[in-house]
Amino acid sequence: DLPLSTQVKLPNGVSYEQPTGLYINNQFVPSLEKNTFEVISPSTEEVITSVYESRKDDVDLAVEAATKAFDDSPWTKADPSQRAKALFKIADLIEEHGEIISSIETIDNGKSISNARGDVDLAVRCIRAHAGAADKLFGLVVETGDSHFNYTRREPLGVVGQIIPWNFPLLMFVWKIGPALATGNTVVLKSSETTPLSALYVSKLIQDHNVLPPGVLNVLSGFGKYTGNALTEHPDVKKIAFTGSTATGKIIYKKCAESNVKKVTLELGGKSPHIIFDDANLDQALESVIAGIFFNSGEVCCAGSRLYLQEGIYDQFLDKFVEAAKNTIKVGDPFLEDTIQGAQNSNQQLEKILQYVKIGTDEGATLLSGGVRLPQKGFFVEPTIFGDVTEEMRIVKEEIFGPVITVSKFKTVDEVIKKANDSEYGLAAGIQSTNIDRIMDVSRRLKSGTVWVNTYNDFHPMVPFGGYNQSGIGKEMGEEALAAYSQIKAVRLKL
Ligand code: NAD
Repeated sequence: DLPLSTQVKLPNGVSYEQPTGLYINNQFVPSLEKNTFEVISPSTEEVITSVYESRKDDVDLAVEAATKAFDDSPWTKADPSQRAKALFKIADLIEEHGEIISSIETIDNGKSISNARGDVDLAVRCIRAHAGAADKLFGLVVETGDSHFNYTRREPLGVVGQIIPWNFPLLMFVWKIGPALATGNTVVLKSSETTPLSALYVSKLIQDHNVLPPGVLNVLSGFGKYTGNALTEHPDVKKIAFTGSTATGKIIYKKCAESNVKKVTLELGGKSPHIIFDDANLDQALESVIAGIFFNSGEVCCAGSRLYLQEGIYDQFLDKFVEAAKNTIKVGDPFLEDTIQGAQNSNQQLEKILQYVKIGTDEGATLLSGGVRLPQKGFFVEPTIFGDVTEEMRIVKEEIFGPVITVSKFKTVDEVIKKANDSEYGLAAGIQSTNIDRIMDVSRRLKSGTVWVNTYNDFHPMVPFGGYNQSGIGKEMGEEALAAYSQIKAVRLKL
């Protein structure tokens, strides 16, 4: 049998104890069938450790624990400041152990250590924002002008199931559990099968410091078709919050309806436009475009992957961008301090990116930089820019989820808005301009859940994030995330 923790040696020489069990009812336990799976380091292709793999019976146990915690424990009934206190403690623990958590994220996901530290920082700020909201959940008094007293209460949903992807394993864990716990729900979360480590590590910190009552937070490693599916179909789960691909989101949405009309939040894929106008500050625009596509090795749902350059600055900007992609984006060992772009998360993801490079070339686009795998172990690919693209090409339409960007030229505002909005997605968009009238006009007309202006991939815990169109339903963060984990009860009392 696999032990419930293994000693992992990180490339920087540090060793740590990695929990490997399923976290159910405040205990780390083996899975009932004792199945395990290997976790691969994307930057070395070596096995980091194995972890236990949950299946339907384990999901049943976790949901049972979460149901009991919701019904019987003080979690939902206590003074909400107790929930705030617990969440502030989790934030403190993540902050105190930030360096080791960053390293776990880097070895597990492949992202550069500087990206991982940024994730830890945002995770801490997010959970503090939700902690601060836990005791500030208000209802309304509704004046109806008749002899009734009407008020609303904001109540938790019950057991919520959460399913997260591999591109931001820690951040997604925190984005999901923060608002769910702040509003008094109990949680069963499934991590991604390629990145289960940081969620287990943080769960161990929570266990060691006795932060939450048993059953309030349960964390399962496992695969979508077993664990994810069992959670989605479970009759006692009241909501599924999912982040992942649009294809999986559609399956989940349908199953949520068919099982017990679960509430759903879906944070799905994207193909976000980034528009640079002639009047932009070009140095700042270049920084935003680079952050928009090469941050986190391009594995970002809201990556600015379609670049639109206005004709007056097209040649000048493109030259500078290609030069930067070739010479200043250091790709390689993610543990090196000056690495900007680490490894792609898996061989499958790398193959998908290389396949899209071939598709783009076959479609007639011009490869201006990159497009090849680095000749070393690990799933590394060079920053890739395609020019001479047309709007119909698959590389312009489909989400690649890697460091690949397409570049087109435009003349007028109307033309670029039409192109930008011509997508089945609608997660984010970027504008670079110094003209406030243009900024206000274009921001209003873009069909996307977020519009970044003179910045990109720039998040704040109180600013809601979530897509239009097939990029999803509902929002993460901010007031909207709290609303998404609560339901309103109306009481109409005849006086
Ligand atoms: P994915 O859809 O393959 O998997 C996401 C999660 O769903 C994983 O935990 C997986 O195990 C699980 N899953 C798979 N099939 C399932 C099923 N049938 N039932 C239940 N669960 C199932 O996505 P991925 O490859 O892990 O992540 C990349 C995708 O996520 C990209 O499309 C990206 O745009 C999207 N994403 C979106 C956001 C956002 O906030 N909108 C953020 C990050 C990633």
